[in-house]
Amino acid sequence: MITDTSRSTYAKAHMLTSQVAQEGGIIGKRRDSAKNSMIPHLLEIFSDPDSFFHALENFRIAAGESEGEFRGNVYGDGDFYKLLEGMVLFGQDISEYAALIERAQEKDGYISTKQIIASRKGQMVRHADQDDFEEYNFGHLFTLTAAAQRMGQGETLLRVSKKAADYLYNRYLMALRDKKAMSAVCPSHYMGLAELYRLTGEDRYLSALKAALELRKYVLNGTDDNQDEIPLLEQREMRGHAVRATYLYAGVADLCLETGDEALEQVLLSCWDDMVNKKMYITGGLGALYTGASPFGDLINSKRVHQAFGYEYQLPNITAYNETCASLGGIMWASRMFQLFPESRYIDYIERAAYNLAFAAVSPDGNKYFYENMLRRTREVGYFLMWPRERSDTFKCFCCPTNLSRFMAHLPQYAFFTGDDALYTGLYMPCKTHVSLKNGAEFDIEEVTDYPWDGHVSFNIKNWNNTPFRLLARVPAFNGGGFRELDINAPEITFDMTPRLIRAQAKLEENESSVCVMRGPIVYCAEDENLSGLYLPANAEFAEEKADICGETVIRLKTRGWRLSSTPAGLYEEVGETALIEQEISLIPYFEWDNSGFKEMRIWIPVRYDIKKSSNEV
Ligand SMILES: [Zn+2]
Repeated sequence: MITDTSRSTYAKAHMLTSQVAQEGGIIGKRRDSAKNSMIPHLLEIFSDPDSFFHALENFRIAAGESEGEFRGNVYGDGDFYKLLEGMVLFGQDISEYAALIERAQEKDGYISTKQIIASRKGQMVRHADQDDFEEYNFGHLFTLTAAAQRMGQGETLLRVSKKAADYLYNRYLMALRDKKAMSAVCPSHYMGLAELYRLTGEDRYLSALKAALELRKYVLNGTDDNQDEIPLLEQREMRGHAVRATYLYAGVADLCLETGDEALEQVLLSCWDDMVNKKMYITGGLGALYTGASPFGDLINSKRVHQAFGYEYQLPNITAYNETCASLGGIMWASRMFQLFPESRYIDYIERAAYNLAFAAVSPDGNKYFYENMLRRTREVGYFLMWPRERSDTFKCFCCPTNLSRFMAHLPQYAFFTGDDALYTGLYMPCKTHVSLKNGAEFDIEEVTDYPWDGHVSFNIKNWNNTPFRLLARVPAFNGGGFRELDINAPEITFDMTPRLIRAQAKLEENESSVCVMRGPIVYCAEDENLSGLYLPANAEFAEEKADICGETVIRLKTRGWRLSSTPAGLYEEVGETALIEQEISLIPYFEWDNSGFKEMRIWIPVRYDIKKSSNEV
């Protein structure tokens, strides 16, 4: 989601509030497919009263305009709001849906269709089960409202959101008075309340956010699954459900942007470092485990976790869970961290996860999706995994596709961030925008680049009012990190995009003696019928060639490597006469995998180093 921290006291950098016009490049291609294909596809699914999702029909029934029962996911309202957020940011008219949402809202401001529909029959009380995702639904409504307001379509939704936020405010204040525990799953409403506060200037929405976080401390028997086993202020590492964690800390970062709470900032900094240094996949994927036991939780009562962070360095490849929403949550958290602490490493995360997770999670035509994002596919795994191992057009838990649709709409707003007298570059992409800085500098800027395929980026500055400013270009971590001030008279920068081999530290046992090939920010993978026993030389040199994959022009890499003449058929086998056979190895950007039938895929490939004489042998 997009934030407007222009009046946030503790923000040291801000997202642009002006629109960034973007077309061209791989980002433009993915945005076009989101706007023209993914969104119509998702809208059709959510509008079909006979589909499993039933989302629009639930609103119609709640509004008394159709007959029937609530069906679909309890978080379907929130997922529908995410889709509308994508639609409105792509300039599409959502007034018909906004009006329906208003008609479905209860008089006291409450809005979540499952409970509204059931309450008419006396079957349901509100807030009876935190797994009903009521606050999640509220939160995405607030976020949608902020986006709609930015696009001149916010009037109806602002009325709805203010009533809904007033409802939450009253509920939280009463709970605080009674010291009543409250903790919501997938807490998108922390981010949502912060943005509604920024949009309206109403202090009570910031108070509601503070209260919602405060109420977590009264939770008894909390779990790592929901980050409420230990008090928020004591949290120092990433535990449990990865979407819930990233949404929580993104919301906490929003509060810090308004209040400068140093104790909470310490929580954010520690948890962030734990995540990116010990629990993040090279793709930016978060949450290694399908289902299991928290390494940290109480032994008997609260160990169960799902779609969760595991131990430090526990990052399996075939069973990598990596829910798409977790990395989208990570991106939302990272953008807030950058606004608190403008360091390039936070944008590096956005870049890593955008190209190597979000783009991989959706097919180039926008109509098929991964829920989990593995780093290795073998033809058979030999056991049951709960999600499809290829992209699918629907699956029952459909939170990720609508989250992707709005992320594609958000992408241009990650191109630049502003400081008081500086413009920071964020993600590199061809785009144009108008910039107005706090020190009075105003200008139009155009960015020209074919990044990430080419490392050259240049800028054209026009209509400058001559108030001095600094143009600070992000140097990606693969070129040393930090920001470099560009000459405003001839602003350009070139990055070295030579392919490089990346290795993982030994504690990450799955990848020991293996390498991942990266070129710029792009993770590469091998994809073929059989990828067992592959080896790369540590001094591999790569030939680059342009390739067309499903209408997208990318760079393919080729090098010489080896394959073992045989690999074990059973669990264990004597090595025998196995030899290495030289062969060509072809690599494609990981985000283009699974577009040519059901093949094997791997990112991490075993490596052969040169033999060096030991020093005592000289
Ligand atoms: Zn999801």
